[in-house]
Amino acid sequence: MIKFLDIKAINEPFEVAFQEKLKNFLATGWYILGDEVKAFEEEFSAYCGSKYCVGVGNGLDAIILTFKAYMEMGNLKEGDEIIVPANTYIASILGIIHAGLVPVLVEPDADTFNIDPKQIEAKISAKTKGMLIVHLYGQLAAMDEIMEIGYKYDLLIVEDAAQAHGLQFKGSHTRTFSFYPGKNLGALGDAGAVVTNDEKLAKTIRSLSNYGSEKKYYNDYLGFNSRLDELQAAFLRIKLPHLSIENNKRRAVANRYLSEIKNNKIRLPFYDGSDNHVFHLFVIRTEKRDELQQYLLDNGIQTMIHYPVAPHRQKAMKDFHHLSFPITEQMHDEVLSLPMSPVLGDKEIAHIIKTINAY
Ligand SMILES: *Cc1c(COP(=O)(O)O)cnc(C)c1O
Repeated sequence: MIKFLDIKAINEPFEVAFQEKLKNFLATGWYILGDEVKAFEEEFSAYCGSKYCVGVGNGLDAIILTFKAYMEMGNLKEGDEIIVPANTYIASILGIIHAGLVPVLVEPDADTFNIDPKQIEAKISAKTKGMLIVHLYGQLAAMDEIMEIGYKYDLLIVEDAAQAHGLQFKGSHTRTFSFYPGKNLGALGDAGAVVTNDEKLAKTIRSLSNYGSEKKYYNDYLGFNSRLDELQAAFLRIKLPHLSIENNKRRAVANRYLSEIKNNKIRLPFYDGSDNHVFHLFVIRTEKRDELQQYLLDNGIQTMIHYPVAPHRQKAMKDFHHLSFPITEQMHDEVLSLPMSPVLGDKEIAHIIKTINAY
């Protein structure tokens, strides 16, 4: 069976280094917010070409804390509207809601799956104060057009980069990351971060993530407990130097799929051939998606669906059920994610391509 994502195989080359780190970690006896978190923050902000990085508990918290910090700073207030793609993973939308803000959903471009900049302006109201832009599946969103709209309407722009580690970013200066194990840079548990050039924002997020306190037992804000775990930071430091190489391997897998899959029942993803994609996922479209998924499974190929139900159709999102997003809805019925990882072998790739071409 070809696994959709073999995380164990991805982490195997690092196991000896992980064990060495764990040994050192146990020897220090320092478990929370130590040298590893500090060093990872420095290394990751440098890697992203950013001034500051604040480690947090996970990717959802990275979004919540960023918006909460903007509220504490007086840039946003409860009930303000935030533009967000309708077809994102639900965490983007939850991050806005849990911060006390109102998500306003916008359809994606039918080719790239990323938010369609041409449909943003129609959704902007007097209450719109920001945008949360997602680089879905690892592909850079149309940042030039998005930044122009942001500038025109004076909107804060935050990027949910949970699927886009290692992307050559351009545009806004504030990005939220998840290091959930299956992401391009994955920890061995939950972890996340916010990267920004805004010193005040970084400081406020850092305080909010640690009980709203800068100085121990003195609380400036009604804060949270969402810190990057020291041991996860130590593991992430081992993997970070390999991220760019791993992303190149993902692009090589994608290039083979794109040039060798030939089946007119299947629509391949848009890719401009540049570095503007880190292929967190390789997502094809087909009308009889469930049938294709079963056929691939019968031939020893595991696939996944990202995502089977659109956020506005989820049981939890009752206030959004009356809304209609035809492109988003069709996407959720047709998408199928093929195996994609830096450790996918040539034989496996060849088998996947041959099987799809015979469908
Ligand atoms: C994974 C993901 C998140 C949430 O990250 P967690 O670490 O699981 O909280 C947020 N946004 C997007 C787009 C994601 O893919």
